[in-house]
Amino acid sequence: MIQGFEIIKCPICGSEKHDLHLKTFDRFAEECKDEFEIVKCSECNFIFLNPRPGIDVLGNYYDVDGYDPFISEDKEQSLRDKFYMALRNYNLSVKHRKIKKYKSKPGKILDIGCATGEFLENYQKYFWQCTGVEVDDGARTIAKNKNIKVFSSVHGIPETEKFDIITMWHVLEHVHDLNETVEKIRTLLKDDGILVIAVPNIEAYDAKIYKQEWVALDTPRHLYHYSIETIQKLFRKYNIKLINKHTLLLDNLYNNLLSKQLAKTGFISFGWTLLGSLLKTYLVSNKNSSSLVYYFTKELNNE
Ligand SMILES: [Zn+2]
Repeated sequence: MIQGFEIIKCPICGSEKHDLHLKTFDRFAEECKDEFEIVKCSECNFIFLNPRPGIDVLGNYYDVDGYDPFISEDKEQSLRDKFYMALRNYNLSVKHRKIKKYKSKPGKILDIGCATGEFLENYQKYFWQCTGVEVDDGARTIAKNKNIKVFSSVHGIPETEKFDIITMWHVLEHVHDLNETVEKIRTLLKDDGILVIAVPNIEAYDAKIYKQEWVALDTPRHLYHYSIETIQKLFRKYNIKLINKHTLLLDNLYNNLLSKQLAKTGFISFGWTLLGSLLKTYLVSNKNSSSLVYYFTKELNNE
């Protein structure tokens, strides 16, 4: 076993029984040939990294060349960065429009994994009271400079704080203490609050095509690989129920494009896969989507 790694039970059902789902590698570590095992729980079908990096070595895997999820206006940008920023701004407006269907009046919003705070900055424009959580010191400082209250951990937020909206954009697959985090989220969510979670979808069409080269496996940074079925099982444990889900076009394009680069597939085969992914997602079912945005609310009658 890789030094600092740990074997875990299924984070959803606690079972120790699992089968190998895939063996894969770190897409940024060209020198290092470490193989990682992604397993599928025999009891509940949850797919997760096992063994996984222990909390002490986890940070090493984020400190690699090429891994920079924090493109910000504050530093010099390449043309590619500018293009990416334009797309991201478009994505921010789509997210806002979708969430507005559930919560239109200004209130309190918490973005867990807020990075440099762009999503919350957009909400400030609509007079929302914004709070973020960000583990990265540099990103947190940038977010704080936007007048956003930012905590370094969700566990640092007082339980008396209650939010109308809690969002996690591609964060839940990274969280080491998964159950404790979901439990804390439930505490922080108002009874009529809405929880919005975007994660890659392990049952996506493109995940099946690219297999170990599907970019959203992102081992060993992604610890869990959710399906529509397993994410519901996780939240049901905490009396949180799914009320809706949808796809985001840009997330689909992004995953397909980066997977093509990783797998070094030719342009024609990339084109067919992308076309298949979009047709299956938009014409058949969003259960084929590369990633999904889930909407949850608290289940109150069980208390
Ligand atoms: Zn399980």
